[in-house]
Amino acid sequence: MNLLANRSQLVKQFIKSNPSLVCVILALATLAVDFAAGREIRFPLFYVLPIGLAAWMDRKWLAYVMAITLPAVGVVFEFLWQSTDYLHAEGTNTIIEIGAMILYVFLMGKQGNRSRKMEVTLSTREDEMQHFRAFTRLVGTSLQGRGVSSGLADGVAVVHHPGNDVALGDSNITPDQAAAEVERFDQAVEASIQDLEKIRARFESQKANDECGLIDVQLSLLRDPSFTKKCKARVTDALVSAEHAVGLEIRVMETRLLTLKQEFMRQRSADVRDIGHQVLENLGKSGGAVTAHPLASLPPGAIVVTDDLLLSDALQMDPVNVVAIITERTGPASHVAILARGRRIPAICDINDVVFLVTTGDHLLVDADKGTVTVAPTQSQSAAHFADKEKSAPVSATSVKTPIQSGCKTKDGVEIRLLGNIGQADEARMVMEHGLGGIGLFRSEFLFLDADEPPDSDAQAAAYSEVAGLFDPLPVVIRTMDLGGDQIPRFISAANDPSLRAGMRGLEYSLTESSLFRAQILAILRASQRGNVKIMFPMVMGAADMTAARNVVEEILQGESPGIRPLIGAMIETPSAVFDLRGILAIADFVCIGTNDLSHSILAMDRASQGHSAVRSFLHPSVLKATHQIIRAAKKQAVPLSVCGEAAGDPTVACLLAGMGVRELSMNPFLVENVLHALREVTLEEARQIARKVLAASTPDEVRDTLASSLAPVDSRAS
Ligand code: PEP
Ligand code: MG
Repeated sequence: MNLLANRSQLVKQFIKSNPSLVCVILALATLAVDFAAGREIRFPLFYVLPIGLAAWMDRKWLAYVMAITLPAVGVVFEFLWQSTDYLHAEGTNTIIEIGAMILYVFLMGKQGNRSRKMEVTLSTREDEMQHFRAFTRLVGTSLQGRGVSSGLADGVAVVHHPGNDVALGDSNITPDQAAAEVERFDQAVEASIQDLEKIRARFESQKANDECGLIDVQLSLLRDPSFTKKCKARVTDALVSAEHAVGLEIRVMETRLLTLKQEFMRQRSADVRDIGHQVLENLGKSGGAVTAHPLASLPPGAIVVTDDLLLSDALQMDPVNVVAIITERTGPASHVAILARGRRIPAICDINDVVFLVTTGDHLLVDADKGTVTVAPTQSQSAAHFADKEKSAPVSATSVKTPIQSGCKTKDGVEIRLLGNIGQADEARMVMEHGLGGIGLFRSEFLFLDADEPPDSDAQAAAYSEVAGLFDPLPVVIRTMDLGGDQIPRFISAANDPSLRAGMRGLEYSLTESSLFRAQILAILRASQRGNVKIMFPMVMGAADMTAARNVVEEILQGESPGIRPLIGAMIETPSAVFDLRGILAIADFVCIGTNDLSHSILAMDRASQGHSAVRSFLHPSVLKATHQIIRAAKKQAVPLSVCGEAAGDPTVACLLAGMGVRELSMNPFLVENVLHALREVTLEEARQIARKVLAASTPDEVRDTLASSLAPVDSRAS
């Protein structure tokens, strides 16, 4: 009995998990019975389909009635033509067919139900989101995140989906525009082929066969005559723009590939999407209908809402109309957060599903100090928000606070030089208006990130000269491009660039991109004719790469007349540089501690993630010990040192660094006032005592407690 029960359980289980296989087995069994009965094969295909369809569509009674009547009709039909000798076999056969059909209806019905349930499940999440959104609209619910750039804002949401920035533009064209559109299409395809061939040649020279293979796949797709023919046919027959034709054709190809069974073929859909993007980009360059970057022109009071904001996107953002940024990811130490703070744009991260919870056009209140976003606020929420805004400082990027009149000195008169960090030439004026002693960090890569083409030497020289001339004779430290990581220019495809794919960053990347690097050095050398320019290399690994970079400068200098030789410095921001400190100090004219990267790399934290703020990471005993080691080594070898990471702009950390021996800090100009105030309140001896205690602490909590009890609280939120 038990055995029988077990078997039927097994059979049930098998039927449940393999309904299609069971159907096939049944069909074969029907055939076998027909065959065994010694008659010609007569599988009732003609009624399998309607019966199956009815069952699948949940018309069960219809399906059962058909399952009984159709085979019966079949046998009557047979009976008219066959001799009575066959009647017996025919009858048995028909009964079996009816049984098989009933089981078939049952299984098809179940399968149909199952897929309907799946559809319901899939749409439930979307429904939930819709409900939640309706709910937030009704009551003005606050979403909680984390402020990464402080301030209050009130505006209208603009939801941005990265990657959708190649718009298809206006689709319709007139018949007389068709020929020109086809020509534009041909040119864009040719340009895309040339781009890929250039990249392929680079891979080939590096013997990177796998990469060459991947590019070959894309090249073959681009050269496929059926792709180009279909796109052109869409232009000439359907009268749509070249962009639209490409977009539609790519979507069709992608969908076709995604429905294939083989994983390998499904993965090709990414290649198809990629070539589509490349052709669309090239169509954009040919002056077609591709629109500008979607963030380049925003409505007044725009609050950009996105899951992750790329730095190149942030740089494209309309600087006049954006009033706040809200993201799901974008950690506090990321360059986007630094940019937002530098431009005084309130920013909040860490709000899960924010792009679903907010729609373009929603009215939002942003309080980045509390990390809250209120969707569709009520009147009383708006009133409270505006009252808070009145009390707080204005968020305008042009608001200038009191400049440093008489330099920055500790209570006992020790001078601490305060300089500014900038990313673009136009920010230099802000540093000047705050009365800072020069530019301690010009993040030159910002000139590259939102450019379609590498900026040439002349354009760079103009930007650097403008800043150098403005500050002359005060120093301007131009850091060579720190590309890689979260800083990828638009003109480089990270996926196709072998050096970026190999994880290179900063100086190492520059040394492999020789022509880009040399053009930049030449521009900096030209700017050095206009003022007190210094060159600084980012992400130096050790004496070897520092020497290689110095040699590039020397070589270019020799070709230049009259050839003022600027001081050459190294950023100390990698553990590798800390280990090779003596070697670097022997050849560097100055060094600068980049606390952002140093902290994150020592703590093995992903800088772009939602981890700790730059200040909080810096206040880890291991990072502090490394910093102290660098400061002492530089002093011993008499090499000037400054600190330019975000931590330098924190008032408490500034006092701590002064106590550790630092005499020059470079920061976001908006932070200078608090730093100045804190340094003026402390004597050097007090700062030294605090540093001693902090360096003796063994846990991050101990470090923070020591600082909190000795100085004003550390603002670990926005920095
Ligand atoms: C740093 O790492 O501290 C630094 C100043 O460089 P950036 O933040 O531009 O990487
Ligand atoms: Mg850095």
